[in-house]
Amino acid sequence: MNKQTIIRIAKRFTENSQLNYISKDVAIRKELAGMKIFDEAIFAFGSAEDKGFELLKNPSVIGEHFLTPTEWLPGANTVIVYFFPFTDEIIKSNRKEKRWPSDEWLHGRIEGQIFLKEFSMFLNKKISDAGYDSIIPTLDSRFISSTSSDEKIPPYSSNWSERHAAFVSGLGTFGLSKGIITEKGMAGRLGSIVTNLELELSEKNYRDVYEYCTICGACAERCPVNAISIERGKDHKKCADHLDITSKKFKPRYGCGKCQVLVPCERRIPKTLEF
Ligand code: SF4
Ligand code: SF4
Repeated sequence: MNKQTIIRIAKRFTENSQLNYISKDVAIRKELAGMKIFDEAIFAFGSAEDKGFELLKNPSVIGEHFLTPTEWLPGANTVIVYFFPFTDEIIKSNRKEKRWPSDEWLHGRIEGQIFLKEFSMFLNKKISDAGYDSIIPTLDSRFISSTSSDEKIPPYSSNWSERHAAFVSGLGTFGLSKGIITEKGMAGRLGSIVTNLELELSEKNYRDVYEYCTICGACAERCPVNAISIERGKDHKKCADHLDITSKKFKPRYGCGKCQVLVPCERRIPKTLEF
């Protein structure tokens, strides 16, 4: 099994899985039945022993509770990180309303995550069928995340971060909104697998954590609750509080994503500002 095989598996799964299309039974509006959620994924293959993972244990980044790939899976060689960009239909729909997520975006957030989980499990099984060990940290029984200060780990933190794994592995850099800017932009979802399968590693086309972000401030202007600012970065509590409100208003779904659409990094790496 090599990189090309994995990319081919993903391409086929994206086209053929029924979970990548909104079914009649769950469609919020009947015309959304059949809507495609994700376009083809992009991948990065990082070294499980990349020193960047150790650095994430620093309290100023994530903290001691972060588990490195080899702590998740002793003998791990590779971290596979993937980004599934949302389709145009989902992205464009969420550009319109300023405060609340579009129905299409809600589907992308919830049914999209169901698809992503299925894809991760499918790829994980393919890797194990080929004779290798692999795990999906976010689906592992050891995975912990917190959204409040009552937990044993700092608020809004977890012991594995797909965004940080994406950065370390070469998929993209952080933006001011704390999403990952990839060559296909930011509007979409990330997933990751840790495996002892050895794969050719991706090149990292950046050095700095925020290298792809032009600090244009468009995401800050888009945020309906002022959770993002050029001076102070992102206020995770404000964002989480807003998501809580959406989870009541749009039960059983939730979401926002206004900072990911109608911004220069929506679909691409924005051009560097010229001074
Ligand atoms: S909208 Fe501008 S400031 Fe915000 S993440 Fe994208 S490039 Fe960075
Ligand atoms: S998801 Fe919504 S509330 Fe959270 S930072 Fe982005 S725009 Fe603001």
